Amino acid sequence: MTKRNLNLIFLGPPGAGKGTQAKQVVDKYSIPQISTGDLMRATVSSGSSLSEKLKSYMQAGALVPDQLVLDILIARIDQADCQKGFLLDGFPRTVGQAEELEKALLKRNSPLSGVVSIDVPDEVLTGRLTARRICSKCSASYHLEYLKPQKDGICDRCGGELYQRKDDSEEVIKNRLKVYHEQTSPLVDFYQKKKNLYPVDGNKKIDMIFQEICDIIDRLNSP
Ligand code: AMP
Repeated sequence: MTKRNLNLIFLGPPGAGKGTQAKQVVDKYSIPQISTGDLMRATVSSGSSLSEKLKSYMQAGALVPDQLVLDILIARIDQADCQKGFLLDGFPRTVGQAEELEKALLKRNSPLSGVVSIDVPDEVLTGRLTARRICSKCSASYHLEYLKPQKDGICDRCGGELYQRKDDSEEVIKNRLKVYHEQTSPLVDFYQKKKNLYPVDGNKKIDMIFQEICDIIDRLNSP
């Protein structure tokens, strides 16, 4: 019997730890991490014709319109490295995006394996995001107090320089959390109804959360 693809979604508010967990999961299961935030930031830096348009949404902490994100996302999952599966981090963020993804996967005969939702209370998220620093090369995430790099300002994984995202300011964070509750959290219900949702408590030690996520993936991945 041929093994099915491992098509995963990490769902959760900004700062829940989706990116941090995703980095470890993709190393273990050899599937690519697809972060629509990273894809969008790369498009902005490329200075393409879309740059200015994307920037205005992102700097305000608002969602980029569905069609724009979908075009970028679908082109990415059609690349050769996604043939055995992928991990979506930060997508879908609206019910409309989830429905379009479902159609696209159906067309490709490559259904979703499961959605891991990482739950963290808002007050914890704000503290995490304001102290977050990101690697400019590999986008690994650090925290000024709880997950310090060995050398100040330098990424442990790849030696890249760490920076603070512009949208990790307190003002923009407020809006990103509001947008999450209004537009993205309905996806919890959406995937629960499809019996595809696997919640984990994201307010624990990183290693413990990772173990829980691996247990879920191993169950989804068993023949
Ligand atoms: P993230 O890195 O996931 O926090 O995303 C950063 C920003 O990129 C978000 O605040 C949005 O402006 C935009 N973005 C990322 N993913 C999506 C998505 N799936 N739909 C709409 N906008 C997105």
